[in-house]
Amino acid sequence: MTPTYQQLINRNRDHAAARPAFRPALQPTLPTVIVCCADHRADPAHVFQLKPNEAVVLRNPGGRITPALLQELAVLATIVAVEHLDSNVELLVMHHTDCGMTHLSPQRDAAVLTAMFGTTPSDALHLADPFQAVAADVESLRTNPFLPPTLIIGGLVYDLDTGLVYTVVAPAPLSAVS
Ligand SMILES: [Zn+2]
Repeated sequence: MTPTYQQLINRNRDHAAARPAFRPALQPTLPTVIVCCADHRADPAHVFQLKPNEAVVLRNPGGRITPALLQELAVLATIVAVEHLDSNVELLVMHHTDCGMTHLSPQRDAAVLTAMFGTTPSDALHLADPFQAVAADVESLRTNPFLPPTLIIGGLVYDLDTGLVYTVVAPAPLSAVS
């Protein structure tokens, strides 16, 4: 057993001892799904001071809306949030400054980006600017015919230097967007 793994197991024992003695409900207590980057510096549990069982979080490199992410959302809607998708579920997409995705080049890293986005990389991916990228990702969700019109969608950027979240696209129901 490695020291790191032992440390994690020790923390788990503390967690198990401190948690309430009942199984949490499958649905999160806040009707919220957060899509965000896998970067440890932009963990929504910390950024939003989430309490246990409050939100569903999907993470990938960049927090980007990719074909794989859309498939995961569809499965999630089926197994977890199906009861909530008719009312007031918020889907928040959060990108962040200094994201590792900004270090990728559409030319140099074309193969990996094509695999991730399912399309030929271009400047439309907005790799360098998280504000433009999150706006583009929210727009792609708004034009997705498979999402329910009552779903509330918003886009945010988390600033690693200040700890503040900036609203790029204010959360609004799909049905309210023309
Ligand atoms: Zn990132």
